[in-house]
Amino acid sequence: MDTQRKKAVIVGAGPAGLTAGYELSKEGQHVVVVESDPRYVGGISRTVDYHGYRFDIGGHRFFSKSREVEDLWTEILGADMLHRPRSSKIYYRGQFYSYPLKPFDALSKLGVLESTLCVLSFLHARLNPTPNPKSFEDWVVNHFGERLFRIFFKTYTEKVWGMSCREISADWAAQRIKGLSLGSAIKNALLPQRHSEDRGQIVKTLIDTFRYPRLGPGMMWEACAAKIRAMGSEVLLGRTVDGARFDDATKSWMVTATTRDGQTEQLIGEHLISSMPIRELVSQIEPRLPEAVLRSGNSLRYRDFLTVGLILQERDRFHDNWIYIHDPNVKVGRVQNYKSWSPEMVPDPKFCCYGLEYFCFEGDGLWTTPDEELIALAKRELEQIGLAAASDVLDGCVIRQPKAYPVYDDEYKSHVEVVRQALDAHCPNLHLVGRNGMHKYNNQDHAMMTAMLAARNILAGETKFDLWAVNEDGEYHESGEAGEQSDTGWKKVVTSATNS
Ligand SMILES: Cc1cc2nc3c(=O)[nH]c(=O)nc-3n(C[C@H](O)[C@H](O)[C@H](O)COP(=O)(O)OP(=O)(O)OC[C@H]3O[C@@H](n4cnc5c(N)ncnc54)[C@H](O)[C@@H]3O)c2cc1C
Repeated sequence: MDTQRKKAVIVGAGPAGLTAGYELSKEGQHVVVVESDPRYVGGISRTVDYHGYRFDIGGHRFFSKSREVEDLWTEILGADMLHRPRSSKIYYRGQFYSYPLKPFDALSKLGVLESTLCVLSFLHARLNPTPNPKSFEDWVVNHFGERLFRIFFKTYTEKVWGMSCREISADWAAQRIKGLSLGSAIKNALLPQRHSEDRGQIVKTLIDTFRYPRLGPGMMWEACAAKIRAMGSEVLLGRTVDGARFDDATKSWMVTATTRDGQTEQLIGEHLISSMPIRELVSQIEPRLPEAVLRSGNSLRYRDFLTVGLILQERDRFHDNWIYIHDPNVKVGRVQNYKSWSPEMVPDPKFCCYGLEYFCFEGDGLWTTPDEELIALAKRELEQIGLAAASDVLDGCVIRQPKAYPVYDDEYKSHVEVVRQALDAHCPNLHLVGRNGMHKYNNQDHAMMTAMLAARNILAGETKFDLWAVNEDGEYHESGEAGEQSDTGWKKVVTSATNS
């Protein structure tokens, strides 16, 4: 038992937990970060090493419109942050379409008849939109038309979520593909690219380039953890937090964690910062939360994910970073080519490593399939879509990622709101941060921003910033320039937070 009270106990050594730990440690505070993984920090943004070949959990682009986030990445990794060219495609019915879609490429590959039907269906949707679209399907059909929805959105989205596009909330479409319109796609294809002077260098749009650590995203979070330790705080691995009690007498959080060999440890913090899934947190809190709150927490759902990592002979078959597989005849949802993310993801240039991504639910058929069968499936499907010969594959591994995606169903918002209000009322000095920590479909930068604001609140000794306001300005994924929101976007978040 560690009886020394820390400024904060931080649950999870993903981007959110480590950012909070780093920001507080830099200000001379002692914190302890507790992580259940015995080997890796980085959470979903870790990089798995298999015989020197490096695999992401999905490829992780480092891109933010927040200058603070971009600067923090530079501060942590410096010259190890590469600027990498981006190339991605969609595979559909034997064709590879450029992604983001280029109108002439898409229309020529679809053929004259299908293209005409797509344009007519687009015009029809614009003239007869579904009023107040609630589902993902309605939202996308309103913006792109029925036929383009079926070709470029439906199959992949249903693979990702394991449910019909009619059951997925329009919120998700608005957050992920807002700003990506046929109009902007056509404009991007026809007009010369925008450049801007930013910190003395030309930064291209996200469409062309992104930043990426030399050895994958895990390199960022390993360096961050090392810096936290060097500043005198702790990052403990292989401990799963399974209890959190607020002690009113000492105004402290008493956190229990269980090690891999079953030992229980107790950690004490003035504050508790949690990036663990809300569903798990609510049932651990003592004094016990009201039943209705536990029910809401338990109703939150997640989508899980596995990557089959394959090591292959390099045959220069493709150089894209990733390819979305929209074809319903294969189960794989996306193929990553890690060497295109960074050449150092492979130890020997004669080889390459791919990640075949399968979306599933923890415990379902795919999830429980033995690794050898998953590797055999991935080899077959890779050959079926023409990206490699199965005989080129030398070795493989399977990486499972539970709770990769917080599900945005019809009710998640009201459940999160119930939990949030109860935690505000019953749990002093508790700060929810990050992706599953707030049940928000956040990328690293927004997960980090919530952590930065939590740290500022703790240092200020008052709730100056409402963390839930981060990400309300959700449009950024497929457009814009790195650091662009540095002045307006961050201020907007902070201003709206201060006012709330
Ligand atoms: C397929 C895929 C692709 C992605 N691509 C990108 C991208 O290109 N760019 C980008 O910026 N983001 C991307 N993301 C999102 C990014 O991975 C997340 O936003 C980020 O990792 C969230 O950070 P976090 O710290 O909030 O959560 P996590 O990364 O989930 O970290 C939480 C940590 O908490 C630990 N934990 C949980 N419960 C406990 C417990 N009870 N006790 C102790 N430890 C616990 C977990 O083990 C984990 O390490 C992608 C995500 C996925 C799934």
